[in-house]
Amino acid sequence: MDEQCEGRAPIPVPCAHRPTVGGLVVPWVTLRHPHAGWLLGRTRSDLMAACVRERRCQTCGEPLGARVVVMCRPEDLAQGYTAEPGMHPECAAYAGRACPMLAGRMDHHHRHPVSMAHLRCDNPACACQVWGDSPDRQTRAGQPADDYIAVWLDARDYRPAVDERGKVRGVALRGVRFLRLRPIPGREPSSETTRAIHALDAMRQLMTSPPPALDPEVTRSCP
Ligand SMILES: [Zn+2]
Ligand SMILES: [Zn+2]
Repeated sequence: MDEQCEGRAPIPVPCAHRPTVGGLVVPWVTLRHPHAGWLLGRTRSDLMAACVRERRCQTCGEPLGARVVVMCRPEDLAQGYTAEPGMHPECAAYAGRACPMLAGRMDHHHRHPVSMAHLRCDNPACACQVWGDSPDRQTRAGQPADDYIAVWLDARDYRPAVDERGKVRGVALRGVRFLRLRPIPGREPSSETTRAIHALDAMRQLMTSPPPALDPEVTRSCP
């Protein structure tokens, strides 16, 4: 077993049953080629949606608990949802260390991302023949890596974001109470992201604090 390689994030207990590739846990949502094996970093959209609907952790695939961590980019907060299903706090901490994009080991998206067409095999009957790229992947090619924020939610506030036809787009962030907002440990968020975290944290405190007690002087002066 090479999971315990020097510098490798230790595998959290909920992921102990998951297969590994090069010592890294294969997340539950990962795409698998019928013959060529796991494609780490590629996800199946049907499993992403199932994760949100069935309230499973996207890393270990097990049911989520009382606290859910969702990794989102500042623009996801602005658009009101993130495409990333939630995780157990310990699985999220692992993903933050093991995933090259989350851990900040990539400063840019690949300039020439490998398209799904290149990953297809020669068998016309193989499932891979219908694989397609998300439009997102091509627009991000060569762009600076995204900043991520770990958003902690109470499981009662964890719900799907759906489109006009009821299709699951991800996890709702609009009108949702955030328990905590944290940058990914060990990586330096941009000043813009830091400002966004502080602003949201201030709003969160405003919404969750009890209203200030009335000043007795003011109440007395009322007619
Ligand atoms: Zn998990
Ligand atoms: Zn194939």
